[in-house]
Amino acid sequence: MSFSQAVLTWYDKNARQLPWRSFPSPYRVWVSEIMLQQTRVETVLPYFERFITRFPSLEVLAAASQEEVLRLWEGLGYYSRAGNLHKAAQQMLLMHAGQIPSIVTELERLPGIGGYTAAAIASIAFGEPVAAVDGNIKRIYARVLALIEPYGSVRFEKVVGDHAQTVLPPDRPGDFNQALMDLGANVCLSRQPLCKACPVMEHCLGFQSSIQNELPVRIKKAPVPHYQVCVAVIQSHGKILLCKRGSSGVLAGLWEFPGGKCEQKDNSLEDCLVREVLEKTRLEISPDGKIGVFKHAYTHFKITVHAWHAKLLPGQLPEVPENYCWVSPPDLADYPMGKVARKISDSIAGNSTLL
Ligand code: SF4
Repeated sequence: MSFSQAVLTWYDKNARQLPWRSFPSPYRVWVSEIMLQQTRVETVLPYFERFITRFPSLEVLAAASQEEVLRLWEGLGYYSRAGNLHKAAQQMLLMHAGQIPSIVTELERLPGIGGYTAAAIASIAFGEPVAAVDGNIKRIYARVLALIEPYGSVRFEKVVGDHAQTVLPPDRPGDFNQALMDLGANVCLSRQPLCKACPVMEHCLGFQSSIQNELPVRIKKAPVPHYQVCVAVIQSHGKILLCKRGSSGVLAGLWEFPGGKCEQKDNSLEDCLVREVLEKTRLEISPDGKIGVFKHAYTHFKITVHAWHAKLLPGQLPEVPENYCWVSPPDLADYPMGKVARKISDSIAGNSTLL
């Protein structure tokens, strides 16, 4: 049996039952593929169900506010995906008569859709014979081909990309791509692959040479930077100050408590807090009791966030730049936030005597 036949035969018996597979409309496939970027299936499932219930079609999504889309996305991470999904829905309504394009080249022109996602949507939803090759699938091919080129190198990408397209069965490209996704998730695991249960064991040169655990070859990455960040829950006239992040970069469009990164010139965390708030809002504050310390890891850096209650020093008007606003404590839940800001918000909401 060929490699492709072995993969498809295994998939026909072992495919994961997933909601976007039961009713694979282009809209559901698109939403699922965006949610699955950098995110595990188990994490995506409840978000997908909630999202599709609230936004059952491209038209409904396009008509929603960006704030509401972000609120439903909260906790899923990589928030630029939510903004791009929303923008792409509006573009498709205007430029594609409300239809999701069916070919890779047109899909790639939409916000948030790169080569892999375009290939996944085109093959699964429309049957275009294109290989979708993500990190898990690259791992499978690195092992099957016993590829010793470093992962991510030009040569690695070329060999894997060409091979993936060569073995893709033109009559079932979507199933084949999804089969490899399942194989990477459940059998050809990143550590300790389950080779004895693998349908392509006989085609796998890495397994035959007993080097599968060393593949793919990865070049050591530089250590991830770790930042200390100080933020303030500033209260004035019964309201709390929030800041909206810019429209690009990490946590784009989400709300957070004012503050920023420690610098060498800061003599203490409290100094950092007062300086950051002054630089960003022109408000002078004094820390008034620590709320807690919150850690979080992003893809390219880690942060430890120190959060305080803080008061405005007397004699100031609570005027703030336009990306800031004063919010009543019960309304904090309506403002989309990243994980750390939401934890801070929840911890102050759970301690009503502090409000
Ligand atoms: Fe991966 Fe093992 Fe299968 Fe090779 S035989 S593809 S290493 S699970």
